[in-house]
Amino acid sequence: MTDREQLEAHLQAHLEFFRELGVEGVSRDPVWRRRAGDVAADVGAAGATAPAGAEADAAEASEPAAGASPPAGPAPPADVPPPAGSAPPADVPPPAGPASAAGVPASSEMAPPSADVVPPLASGAVALSMFDRVEAPADGSPPERLAQVREQLGPCTRCKLHSGRTTLVFGVGNPDADLMFVGEAPGRDEDREGIPFVGRAGQLLTRIIEAIDLRRDDVYIANVIKCRPPDNRNPEPDEVQTCEPYLFAQIDCIRPRVIVALGSFAARTLLRDERTSITRVRGKVFAFRGAQLIPTFHPAFLLRSPDRKREVWEDMKLVRSLLRAG
Ligand code: SF4
Repeated sequence: MTDREQLEAHLQAHLEFFRELGVEGVSRDPVWRRRAGDVAADVGAAGATAPAGAEADAAEASEPAAGASPPAGPAPPADVPPPAGSAPPADVPPPAGPASAAGVPASSEMAPPSADVVPPLASGAVALSMFDRVEAPADGSPPERLAQVREQLGPCTRCKLHSGRTTLVFGVGNPDADLMFVGEAPGRDEDREGIPFVGRAGQLLTRIIEAIDLRRDDVYIANVIKCRPPDNRNPEPDEVQTCEPYLFAQIDCIRPRVIVALGSFAARTLLRDERTSITRVRGKVFAFRGAQLIPTFHPAFLLRSPDRKREVWEDMKLVRSLLRAG
């Protein structure tokens, strides 16, 4: 490793440490040197998104696109939550308070956190997309409505990502699901198979779902972006603006009660806040399109940072309690 590479590694480690401490606005981007208020004022004045990197989340700066292949090598056992019906791993604390017969916390975790639900918009929120006119069909069953949205999307060429894709990855799962997961974009495996979350990160997501006593077929899984960005780069604003209305239409067809945003990109997109940090919003409940939205870490991030599994487990217990509270 050269001196420069060592310096880069040290710098990245410092940035991640600051982020985990909750220190805001630490970034290598020159924008960081400006006050947050200045950036927000710019955004408000222009009605556009905050400059890229205005608040880089070091914990996710290296997070690959949804389903992107993680580094080679077997996943350590500690990477995955417990299978359905089993106790959490030894390093995962048991649910707080007395457990019910079903093994679900019977304390305040069971109550819908209505008092904690916060509005989705925050300073720095992006303007609504000019393409946000895709409406979910009003008639028909959820599968029928979802099929109409897929038909409306067609062999989409609406943004530049179409030229590099192998397969358009629309979504998979139960069209009548109470729980929906939203990731970022297809990775290599997803692009090849046309199904979201099928790589190692997808396998971990399946285990996470099973950890709250559901099967993968019970939920619906989709991404903000339907086509793989080249080299798993982050989707660009114009691509998000073009594609996200179809995600919103999917949500409106399915009408899930709970949505889990996987990773900072999905959270920022759904919360309309490009400056938010996943470490700040994870585990909180936001009102979103008639559902309760809970951001949490992306499974691909967990594969590289298994020590964050504990937080995801806490978030998923909250998801489970919301679902069971009816
Ligand atoms: S990413 Fe979305 S908008 Fe772009 S081509 Fe694919 S389906 Fe169409």
